[in-house]
Amino acid sequence: MSLPAQSWPELYFDANATTPVMPAAIKAARRAMESNFGNPSSTHSTGLRAGALLDAAHASARAVLGTDKGKIIFTSGATEGIQTAVLSALYTLRERRALDPATPDLLLYGATDHKAVPTTLQHWNQVLGLGCEIVAIPVAADGRHDLTFLSVHAARAALVCTMAVNNESGVISDLRAIRRTLDASGSRALWLVDSVQALGKIELPLEALGVDYAPFSGHKLYAPKGIGMLYVRDGAPFVPLLAGGGQETGQRGGTENMPGIAALGAVLDALHNDPDAFRSGAELHRFNRQLAAALMAAFPGLVFNAPAELTVSTTLNFSVPGMSSREMMNLFDAAGMRVSSGSACNSSKTTRSFVLDAMGLESWRSQSAIRMSFGPSVTSEEIDEACLRIAGAGRALRDACLFGEGTSHAGQIPSGLLQMKFDGACSWIYADAASASCVIVDPLPELAERIAQSVQCRELRVAAILTTDQRPQVAQARNWLLEKLRASTLPEAAVKIRLADGSSSAALPLGASVVVPVPFSEGGEARRVYLLGEVGNRHMWPAAIRHVFVGDLLEGDADGAALARLTPLLSPHTLLLPAHDAQAAIADTLASASGQTGSAAAPAAGENGQETAQDIDTFLKTHPAAIIVDVRETYEANAGHSWLDQLSRRAINIPLTQIAEHIPSWLDDEQQPLLFVCRTGIRSAQAGHCMRRLGHSKVWHMDGGLALARDTAAPCVGI
Ligand code: PLP
Repeated sequence: MSLPAQSWPELYFDANATTPVMPAAIKAARRAMESNFGNPSSTHSTGLRAGALLDAAHASARAVLGTDKGKIIFTSGATEGIQTAVLSALYTLRERRALDPATPDLLLYGATDHKAVPTTLQHWNQVLGLGCEIVAIPVAADGRHDLTFLSVHAARAALVCTMAVNNESGVISDLRAIRRTLDASGSRALWLVDSVQALGKIELPLEALGVDYAPFSGHKLYAPKGIGMLYVRDGAPFVPLLAGGGQETGQRGGTENMPGIAALGAVLDALHNDPDAFRSGAELHRFNRQLAAALMAAFPGLVFNAPAELTVSTTLNFSVPGMSSREMMNLFDAAGMRVSSGSACNSSKTTRSFVLDAMGLESWRSQSAIRMSFGPSVTSEEIDEACLRIAGAGRALRDACLFGEGTSHAGQIPSGLLQMKFDGACSWIYADAASASCVIVDPLPELAERIAQSVQCRELRVAAILTTDQRPQVAQARNWLLEKLRASTLPEAAVKIRLADGSSSAALPLGASVVVPVPFSEGGEARRVYLLGEVGNRHMWPAAIRHVFVGDLLEGDADGAALARLTPLLSPHTLLLPAHDAQAAIADTLASASGQTGSAAAPAAGENGQETAQDIDTFLKTHPAAIIVDVRETYEANAGHSWLDQLSRRAINIPLTQIAEHIPSWLDDEQQPLLFVCRTGIRSAQAGHCMRRLGHSKVWHMDGGLALARDTAAPCVGI
C-alpha cells in the first residue's frame, strides 16, 4: 500500500445505522439555533418566524410523502413514532374490547422487524393490561412476509406491523400484496409500516396503501439524531404519547426540537426539490452492481443474503465462507471501511443475525453476515475507492492463508503456534517453517475447513493430528482432516527420548522441535498431553519445553494430581495450552494454573498499574525500551494504514491468535515493558491480562485501541 496515512480517509458504508448530516441540514439547524431561534408557540415576531419554519418543515414532509391528509408529527425518532402508533392502536383496542369482548385482538409483526417494534408491542400490551397474543409473521428465504400465514391470521388481528425496507438485508416488503391480503381476509386491523429505511430510497404511497401509521427517523437520511416524524392516516386512532403544552396541535407535548426539525426539513426539501442532492435510482443500482462485483472478485465463494432484485440498491448483505462477522468487521475496519455485522459483536461469542435466521438461511451465513450500506447521496469516487479497498482486503486475507482455495504462500509465514477458536473451544496448529511440517491438536469440526485451508496454503506436511481426549466431534474432525490432507500426511517417525522425571517416551520430530505424548488417566478416561520443545542429547529438559497442549486435563484436576505430575517435567515459563478458553485467558504456566501468580502472587498493583494513563507520546518517552505489540490479525495489519504507521517507533505485529508462541520468551525477560495495541482495546486487554496473570509486571495496553487513537489519542493504561 502506498497511500500515506493522512490520505487514508474513512469510508463510511454503514448508512443503515446512521448517516452524517448533510451540509444543508447543518446550515438549517445552525440558523435555527443562531438567528431563527424562537419558540414556535410565541406570538411575537421571533416566535412567528420559528412557527413559519415549523410549517415549512411540515409542508416539505407532506410533499415528500405525497399527502395533504392525516397527521404528520415531528418526534424524537422512529422509536418514539413506533411508541405513539402502538399506544394509539392498543388504547383504542382496549376501549373497543370493553364494548365488545369479541373484538379481534391478535398483534402481528414481521419476524425481521427492527426490535423496536416487538419490544414496543410487549411493553404497551403489558402496561395497558391487555394480555393480547403477539405473534411474528414468518418470512420466506427471500426475506418477504409469508402472505399465506398473514391471510390465515389477519382477520383475528387488531394491529399488523410490517416494515417497508429491512435495515439488515435491505429487502423491500411487498406492501401492495400485504394490503391485498389484509383486504381479502376481511381484516379490520390497523397497519403500522416502519418506513425508516425506505425514505429517500423507494416510493411510499402511504395514503393509497391505506397505511395507518408510518414512523421515520431523521438520522438515517442525513438529518441529525434525535429527530424523526410519524405519519398518521386521516381517521386512524391517535393518542398522544406526550401530553403537555399543546404543541404540534396537541399531538405531542414539549417545545419542538427546532434545530432538528429545521435540519430534517432541509433534507425533505432537498428530497422533493433538489434532484442533484441524491443519486438517481439507476445510478444507485449501478453502484450496487459495482460493489457486488468487487466483493465477488475479492472473496471467491461470497454469497449475497438477499436477492438483489428485491433489495434497495443501497444495502448489500453478504457472507464469506469460513470467515465470521467479527473477523470481516475487523478486516474492513482495518481497510478503513466502516461496515456492520448482522448483530452486535461480542469478543468471544459467535454472533448471529436474527434477520437471516428468520429467513431460514444456513447457520454459517448468519454467523458471517456483513452489511454494507450507503446513503443515496454517495459519490462515484467513494464507490471507486471502496472497490479498491475491498480488493485490498481480499488480498490481505489470501496472503494470511485464511482464505482462497488454491492460493499458495509456502514458506512465507513464520514458524509458530496458532490458536483457532470456536465458541470457546480451541484447536491448535504448530508449524515448523524450516521443515515445512506441522502438527494439528484437537481439531474442531467447525474449524476443520479453515485448518485444512491454512495447512494447504502454506504447503505444510502434517506430521500428526493429535487429540488430548476422547471427544467424538474431535475424533470426527481428525478423520475428516486425515482424509482431506492425506496427500500431505507424513509417515509416523518416532525417536526415543528421556524426560526429566526419568521416564522414556517416543517423540515425534518436527524440524528442530519434537512433540512428546504423555498419557494420563483422569476419572477413568484416557487423556494425553503433548510436550512441545527441543531435544538435547536424547533428553528433553524442562527449560527446553516451551509449550504443552494440556487439553482439559487441568479443568478436572481438583486434587492437583495432574499438575503435580507435570511439574517436574516443565520449566516455570512453559506455557500450558488448553482445549477450552471461553474467558480468552489464552494460556497458563504451572504457577498460574495452581493460583500462584497474577493478582494473587504479583504485587497488588504493579508499578505500571499505579501509573496514570498516558498518551502514547508520553508513554514512549517514559518507557523508551517498550515494545509495541499490535495484536490484530496479520490480515488486519496488512489491509490498510493505521494510526500506528504514524508512530516514531515501529510496532511488531503478533496476532493474539499467535501470541502463545512468544509468551515464554517475554516471561524470560521480566524487565521488558510491553504495550499491546489492537482495534478496539479488547484483544490488547486480553493479551495484557494474560501476561500479567502469568507474572509479567511491565504490561500496558492502549485503552479504546486504534479506533479511538485517530481522534482522541487513546490512553496507554497499565495492567
Ligand atoms: N426501525 C428501523 C428499521 C431502524 O433501522 C431503526 C434504527 O436503527 C429504527 C426503527 C429505530 O430508529 P430510531 O433510532 O430513530 O429510534
